[in-house]
Amino acid sequence: MAERLTAVKGMNDILPAESARWEWFEDTVRRLLARYGYRALRTPIVEPTALFVRGLGEVTDIVEKEMYSFEDSMNGDRLTLRPEATAGMVRAINEHNALYNGPLRVWQMGPMFRHERPQKGRYRQFHQLDVEALGHPGPDVDAELILMLRALWRELGLQEGRDVTLEINSLGEAPERQAHRAALIAYLESHADQLDEEARRRLHSNPLRILDTKNPAMQALVNAAPRLMDFLGEASLQHFDAVRAVLDAAGLAYTVNPRLVRGMDYYNLTVFEWVTPLLGSQATVCGGGRYDRLIEQLGGKPAPGVGFGLGIERLLLLLEAVGLAVPDPAPDAYAVVPDPASLPLVMPLLETLRAQGLAVVMHAGGKDGPGSMKSQFKKADASGARFALVFGADELAAGQVAVKPLRDAAAAQTLQPLDQPDTWAALLRRP
Ligand code: ATP
Ligand code: MG
Repeated sequence: MAERLTAVKGMNDILPAESARWEWFEDTVRRLLARYGYRALRTPIVEPTALFVRGLGEVTDIVEKEMYSFEDSMNGDRLTLRPEATAGMVRAINEHNALYNGPLRVWQMGPMFRHERPQKGRYRQFHQLDVEALGHPGPDVDAELILMLRALWRELGLQEGRDVTLEINSLGEAPERQAHRAALIAYLESHADQLDEEARRRLHSNPLRILDTKNPAMQALVNAAPRLMDFLGEASLQHFDAVRAVLDAAGLAYTVNPRLVRGMDYYNLTVFEWVTPLLGSQATVCGGGRYDRLIEQLGGKPAPGVGFGLGIERLLLLLEAVGLAVPDPAPDAYAVVPDPASLPLVMPLLETLRAQGLAVVMHAGGKDGPGSMKSQFKKADASGARFALVFGADELAAGQVAVKPLRDAAAAQTLQPLDQPDTWAALLRRP
């Protein structure tokens, strides 16, 4: 036998048994986004490397060590498999002048790529729902995004406060961050002996990210560090308070986490994360915030933006951890056709049922015919279908089909006229 090829490490197949969960999530998301006026914007999976270096910042985990970058062998272009979606969305908005007629609410779902150590909830190809509101400067839309996520948890059956909790912070504006940065560097320098290697390297390039460290030995140090919140000016505080006022009025509980800084450099003012206690160190299900300089930084006409990325694998793991059942994708009927000679009669009838929206799986025979009635019924049962349609010799001879309930032991089988599929279609329809 030839050597069996396998998927790239950290990149997963989503098999039919799992894909029902995915589609259910995706359908729920699409419906919800439409209710808030969001529209899809689909961008390529491959972008110029420079987009992410410029957009995310040179000294970030993603750009430093997680990107799948390569040279296009045809022309030498430096390209990258997108590690996140915001930069590409902003590039597209700029390229098509899409904010010309005013603000825009857009979203997309799809694969992202990061070269990380694979583990549960952390993969090298993973999927995100990415939502962006562009051209709105006010705190209203920050709050709306957060409330929309609460609505999503509710739609999915997650309990906020138990399964997911909200953390928020404000990163202020650049001058405020600079003043804080100076104070932070002075503080960290005075404790240089307690810094790990990564922190020492970042001390002058990106000290704020040191607060985001996952090193337990440094927690006490970062806990006592100067807080950005204490450096915020009037306007930044007002923006933050306005977001909080809406969340408070909507009865949404949250924690203000002064150490929440997020992994990309482009954020300002509001940042937030939805975290779960149920997924170990892969705790963040969804993270986002405001990025009022990014559009300009990527060559567009200055305009504000705010958005979030939600990790779909993590969310589905969370739904599983909570034990939420996903709606059954089973077909309405399974057609049992013992004699291949009757297929020309039966198959057009099945087409009629499907044209009416019914899900009908036909037993397809092998080279040696369809198999015994018994084995066909076994397959019908295993399919999860609510009914079997039996096109046996006796039924066909009488111009009939047997409609046999498979899930309800008390319900009786009925015979239906073969030439009136509309009448049996009515029986098959979900109540
Ligand atoms: P983490 O701190 O867990 O590495 P992050 O801050 O790098 O997360 P973001 O860049 O904010 O993550 O991406 C948004 C969301 O995408 C995360 O909250 C998470 O749910 C998901 N995510 C990020 N990286 C991965 C990955 N490698 N595998 C699966 N999901 C991921
Ligand atoms: Mg990460």
